[in-house]
Amino acid sequence: MKIINTVAELRCQLDLLKNNGKTIGFVPTLGALHSGHMSLINKCNRQSDITVCSIFVNPTQFNVKSDLDKYPRTFDADSKMLEENDTDIIFYPSLGEVYPTGLITKVDLDFNGLDKVLEGAFRPGHFEGVVEVVKRLLDIVQPDKLFMGQKDFQQFTIIAHMLRTLKINTELVVCPIIRETSGLAMSSRNERLSVNGRLEAAVISKTLTSVKRRKYTRTVNQLKQYAVKKLNSGPFNLEYFSIIDGNTLEDIDVIDRRGYSVACVAVWFEGVRLIDNTILVSPH
Ligand code: AMP
Repeated sequence: MKIINTVAELRCQLDLLKNNGKTIGFVPTLGALHSGHMSLINKCNRQSDITVCSIFVNPTQFNVKSDLDKYPRTFDADSKMLEENDTDIIFYPSLGEVYPTGLITKVDLDFNGLDKVLEGAFRPGHFEGVVEVVKRLLDIVQPDKLFMGQKDFQQFTIIAHMLRTLKINTELVVCPIIRETSGLAMSSRNERLSVNGRLEAAVISKTLTSVKRRKYTRTVNQLKQYAVKKLNSGPFNLEYFSIIDGNTLEDIDVIDRRGYSVACVAVWFEGVRLIDNTILVSPH
């Protein structure tokens, strides 16, 4: 496994590999890696000759400075985990490599409103930052395939929209949500929960499972009322629970058996913001 810090060296290595006919898979991350990330690495390994994982805590996607400052930086543990999971290249650049002075990296993209709802409503500017860094990293790595998690539903939907709109020749592969034994979606933020809290937080995924089970026997309003009651009581503070069209991310009133619908949630618990989702009806 190679650890590369500069764009020039990465490009040099990847050009050699590409000239030898190797396909490149890419997994962008913020670091603080866990088994959820490793599922992306493993899928990337299966579907590509070369797996590149970037670790870069991107300041432009943090709308709250203190969030950026307290984001965990665990490079030694991350690189060990990546080595154990057969990653070929870690790209671990400095801020100046990703955003060199004079280079315009902001992306001129019509989001069609995808960035204004759900996470976007509570984290203004977040998705402009995500699109900026992913586009920049794609320009650097030029992968055949890009691997992202369903855990960040809105994020991969926006990146899919960007790839289509800008006609970028990279295939997006979306990987399922990896969960702890309790059902809690894996996240680096789970480390900040208390031992009991980590178990208690499983109510989020349990609520999503119950909603999914009842999707055709209750109205959307009833499903929402049920979820709000479960996730906005006691120590839980619900930010949003939405049932949306998976393509437009707009709220829906009725679950269409032939549509694409998703339940998405963000909850504050023990001072930690947790997100999760479940696909109620998959696109055909
Ligand atoms: P992050 O480092 O949080 O930006 O995550 C990097 C990638 O890992 C993103 O595409 C996430 O959606 C994905 N990811 C994070 N947590 C999980 C999880 N529990 N299961 C699957 N993918 C995940």
